[in-house]
Formats: sequence, C-alpha cells, structure tokens
Amino acid sequence: MTTQCPRCHSTAVITKDLARKVGALVGTVGGAAQGVTGAMAGAEVGAVVGLVAGPAGVVAGGMAGAILGGLAGAATGCIAGAKLGEVIDERVLDNYACLDCELSFNRRQSV
Ligand SMILES: [Zn+2]
Repeated sequence: MTTQCPRCHSTAVITKDLARKVGALVGTVGGAAQGVTGAMAGAEVGAVVGLVAGPAGVVAGGMAGAILGGLAGAATGCIAGAKLGEVIDERVLDNYACLDCELSFNRRQSV
C-alpha cells in the first residue's frame, strides 16, 4: 500500500506513529501499575501454593506470583496502549508526513 502526498503527489511519505509510541509507553506504565493489583492476588495464590513447601515456599511462591502479575500487566498494557495509539494516529492526528514538501496530512485526505 503506497500513500501519496495530496499536495505534490510524492510517494516519499513517512508515518509518524506518535500516538502509537506514546500509547505503548503509557500502556506499559499503566499496565504495570494495574499488574501490581493482579500481583497481589498472584502473590496470595503463590503463597498459598508455597504453604505446602513450608516458609521458604511462601516467600518463593509470593515472589513468583508478584513478578508474573507485574509482567503480564505491563505486556498487556503495552499492547492495548499501542493499539489505542494506532487508532488515534489514524483517525485524529495527521500521521503522515511528506519528505518532499513537508506537508503533514491524514490518510483520509489522500486519494
Ligand atoms: Zn508533498
């Protein structure tokens, strides 16, 4: 798929993907924070499972649960944030920039 500049019809067009990058970053941080909530639950489950193995098992199980919860939250948040940012790039921002005449434009304006 080639995008053309609506002004000079150059095909030297780049995507800026600004919202996607910001969204991925915000999603990672937000997801990790939300993952902490899940990590608490994960730590509890891990601690309960660890009870079978004694006091050392409680600590190891809790740690494993917390780490898994945080990582899963960050990864999920990153993907969700990037997806949301992509939509903003496509629909709201002028995501395309022409390298020849430096015009910023939205895909819907190109024919
Ligand atoms: Zn142009």
